[in-house]
Amino acid sequence: MRTNGSASSGLLSRLSRWPLVRQIADLGMGMEAMSDHTRRWQPRILEADGKVVSVCPFCAVGCSQLIYVKNGRIIDIEGNPESPINGGTLCPKGAATFELLSNPNRWTTVRYRAPYSDHWEDRPLDWAMERIARLVKEARDRDWRERNERGENVRSVTTIASLGGASLDNEENYLIKKLFGGGLGMVWIENQARV
Ligand code: SF4
Repeated sequence: MRTNGSASSGLLSRLSRWPLVRQIADLGMGMEAMSDHTRRWQPRILEADGKVVSVCPFCAVGCSQLIYVKNGRIIDIEGNPESPINGGTLCPKGAATFELLSNPNRWTTVRYRAPYSDHWEDRPLDWAMERIARLVKEARDRDWRERNERGENVRSVTTIASLGGASLDNEENYLIKKLFGGGLGMVWIENQARV
């Protein structure tokens, strides 16, 4: 009996050293799953010469971020593990804030497609601001309603809308709500951030 027991424990010991068994036992996430190439990788934050604590600009949760800087440029943004709000995590929007500055595919010019045109054109920002302001003023002057058909006070305009994107931050959304809703009387104000 003793001989059989020692033979099986030797077999088990040999089996447990087999890489396939070790990978299955560790769910393939241990050191044995790494190649030499992977082992040489280092987090890019180790190259940073500074770190700044900040707050994600995107929503009212207010997650804390660590912004890593090298030679005056941001090299990474991560969740702050010391924050009681997010405990080192960031949602996909917060994790993508690094791309606000670094993504070479983001648009940096005003793009305009004229009515009935089949192509987009670059236009100066001043031109776009002037055109938007003029069209908003014309629509508000034309369609402003003091009262509805029952004589109730509505003081609003329903032919202008604001459709905001996920990259509008808290302060921008606050100003949009104040200016468009309270100031211009617009009813249709929508954005992704839900503040
Ligand atoms: S957008 Fe995401 S990361 Fe930013 S504050 Fe809100 S929950 Fe946090």
